[in-house]
Amino acid sequence: MAEQEYITLFAEVLLPLPVKGYFTYRVPQELNGLVAPGMRVVVQFGQKKFYTALIRRIHNQPPKTMSVKYLLAAIDPWPVVNEKQFALWEWMAEYYLCTVGEVMNAALPSAYKLASETRVVMDPEFVKDGDLLSDREFMVVEALEIQKILTLTDISRIVGMTKVIPLIKTMIEKGIVRVEEEITERYKPRTETCIRLTEAYRSEALLNAGMDRLNKRAYKQLQALMAYISMSRCFTDHPLEISRPELLKTPDISAAQLDGLIKKGILETYSRNVSRLNHDEASDSSRNIVFSDAQKQVLAELKSLLKGTGIALLKGVTSSGKTEVYIHLIEEVIGSGKQVLYLLPEIALTTQIIRRLQKYFGEKVGVYHSRYNEFERIEIWNKANIPLSDNQQHQPYQVLLGARSALFLPYTDLGLVIVDEEHDSSYKQNDPAPRYNARDAATVLGHIHQCPVLMGSATPSVESFFNAVSGKYGLVNLNERFGSLQMPEIRIVNIREEARMKRMKSHFSPQLLDAIKQALSAGEQVILFQNRRGFSLRLECDTCHHIPECINCDVTLTYHKQVNVMKCHYCGYTTRVPDICPECHSPAVKMRGFGTEKVEEELSILFPDAVIGRMDLDTTRTKNAYQRIIGDFESGKIDVLVGTQMVTKGLDFDNVSLVGVLYADGMMSYPDFRALERSYQLMAQVSGRAGRRYKRGLVMIQTNNPKHPLLQWVVDDNYDAMFEQQLSDRYKYKYPPYYRLIEVSLRHRDYELLNKAASALAGMLKPVFGGLMLGPEYPLVSRIRNLYIKNLMLKTGKGLQGKQHKAELARQLEIFKALPDYKSVRIIIDVDPV
Ligand code: ADP
Ligand code: ZN
Ligand code: ZN
Repeated sequence: MAEQEYITLFAEVLLPLPVKGYFTYRVPQELNGLVAPGMRVVVQFGQKKFYTALIRRIHNQPPKTMSVKYLLAAIDPWPVVNEKQFALWEWMAEYYLCTVGEVMNAALPSAYKLASETRVVMDPEFVKDGDLLSDREFMVVEALEIQKILTLTDISRIVGMTKVIPLIKTMIEKGIVRVEEEITERYKPRTETCIRLTEAYRSEALLNAGMDRLNKRAYKQLQALMAYISMSRCFTDHPLEISRPELLKTPDISAAQLDGLIKKGILETYSRNVSRLNHDEASDSSRNIVFSDAQKQVLAELKSLLKGTGIALLKGVTSSGKTEVYIHLIEEVIGSGKQVLYLLPEIALTTQIIRRLQKYFGEKVGVYHSRYNEFERIEIWNKANIPLSDNQQHQPYQVLLGARSALFLPYTDLGLVIVDEEHDSSYKQNDPAPRYNARDAATVLGHIHQCPVLMGSATPSVESFFNAVSGKYGLVNLNERFGSLQMPEIRIVNIREEARMKRMKSHFSPQLLDAIKQALSAGEQVILFQNRRGFSLRLECDTCHHIPECINCDVTLTYHKQVNVMKCHYCGYTTRVPDICPECHSPAVKMRGFGTEKVEEELSILFPDAVIGRMDLDTTRTKNAYQRIIGDFESGKIDVLVGTQMVTKGLDFDNVSLVGVLYADGMMSYPDFRALERSYQLMAQVSGRAGRRYKRGLVMIQTNNPKHPLLQWVVDDNYDAMFEQQLSDRYKYKYPPYYRLIEVSLRHRDYELLNKAASALAGMLKPVFGGLMLGPEYPLVSRIRNLYIKNLMLKTGKGLQGKQHKAELARQLEIFKALPDYKSVRIIIDVDPV
């Protein structure tokens, strides 16, 4: 547009640095009309440093400061971030007391990441021809040939001038180099060779004629052709695309026969773009579901609650059919052309749900997975979006499934957000900032898109259930399991008594051993749950009771049998197992405590014929390990599965008749105000894994404290009693849901300095928070990686008072951070810690 040439525009940009707010740059005339909010650009910040920054807004108001630098280059031809995403980022930064730049770092896939200085690489299509290069260009090319990647700072050093951006710009234009972040262009879709009938044979009549001819001369080829037809269902209403490798897997077809058919012009090959992500073809349709009366009732209630921008909590016992209900709702929403976000606590743990959704929705489902590689993540990121240009020709995903970071995908039109297993603590990101809870952020995302939010759990968090009973969320109950499935029978086993009678075999009561024996001899499977927290294996000297600790942290080292070392779970420090006590040199060093590994080992001695599997953090490190263990258990290769929290989550096995909780006391006595709530949730969830159709499951909980009221509530499936008791406790001690918590953690190498700093900050905050400030205190683990830790716990009311408290806290922290004495103290703020 002609008039644009005369306007001076300014861009406010977000820098990938922990600095507050936006920075203003002047848009050079030639970029007017080419830059827009959500695009990345190159800017100079500080004396010599260049960064890729993200444009937040563009306007024509000159800023008050005199010297405004120019934007140096535009990276994207179209926005990679939309307004609704910015709105979420900005809410998050404000609520969780961090910078928008930190949220941006969490939100963008690392291929888009702006956190480094802009990196320059050789254009892969560039063919070196010395004559066409200027001297400086030649120097850059030579350096790139050796180093592959250069930052702009490197380049200015190499060519000996400060302003290298114009040089790099021309080099980009000449096709010599690229900015590394331009991954969308580097990304090439993967293709697959597929097989189909040639045009001439696509009618059944013509094909029959062809077959007749084959029948006479090439019987084997005819068989191959028939196999293709039945596999591809090419004459039905639902033909499938069949790839060459897939086809060759069938025993009826060899490569020679296939090539013969192609030569004869009956079949032909073509190539098809395939996603790098595995997709199952949709094979079920929710239209086939016949809902029970209870489910119908729930659906009707949910539909009315979820009109507009409602938030509803579905409290449905395990196996009540919550997932089926979600599927039905999802189908309705995507039918109206909108997208659905389905959040799961830890995606690695929920292979089964992914499979179920893909069965219904096929290629409409995208999964956003922290274990996917960069290309896969970029692909999903792009496909979460409505196509914006010719470069992005694809059908956008309509159902996005993912763990907490899936909140950040570039949705344009969400029609529903589902938060499954909303009570799960892995919705919270503990480190680094933004320390957000995806469950709570989901309600904000729903608000931004003006769409409803549905939370579901068999054991809701106290916070969400409180919101529901107090009317903030709608509440819907689904109290019966689907079909004839009964709730399991839960028995408490008093192991103190068993130990007194000397009847315990290591950690197993005779009752539990009997039950395992019975299940195994009936050909059924068993899950054993051992909460790892604080109960892993450690070494202890029998003579002086010395327990080896980490040299960097204030924690006991854990013994790992498989690799025969002792390891720190906080910093990764490992050391070999001593033969004698390092303190008193006594040889009487013994193992204490028990972890999943120990349980596994003891079981294999007690049940030598059973196949025992173990699922915990150590056995599930690799990308597919988790799936493999689940697969082996599902297919019956494993008889007994021993595991930590992982085995309590979202799994649905048909053949598990017994669940054992090895030691309930460990989790119940954990020093945390949520210990009882968590214990209830874990025990109820793991119990939910027991029971087969037509057979009632059995759960055995071993404890030293059988009279503990919580255990009775678990036995009686009495969530309400647990909830009431928790509410009264939390009211009394001013905890959530009545108050919000903010943890301020100070860390420093120097113990004395840390103490001084903590007291000083406490002194500044006391007038604001008064009795609502606890500490400063050393946490349970008071030193990690050689940094001492001291914490302040602040409680704020909800609503306006809370907001004011938070604003005041932010102000005091700014002042504190500017104090020269404490500049080196690291401060970490955690709003709503879990
Ligand atoms: P939840 O998510 O509450 O644990 P699921 O949705 O996994 O429960 O349902 C438990 C089992 O019952 C699943 O195998 C599911 O397929 C089945 N199921 C639930 N509702 C129906 C229905 N209406 N028709 C057929 N099967 C159902
Ligand atoms: Zn000793
Ligand atoms: Zn350590």
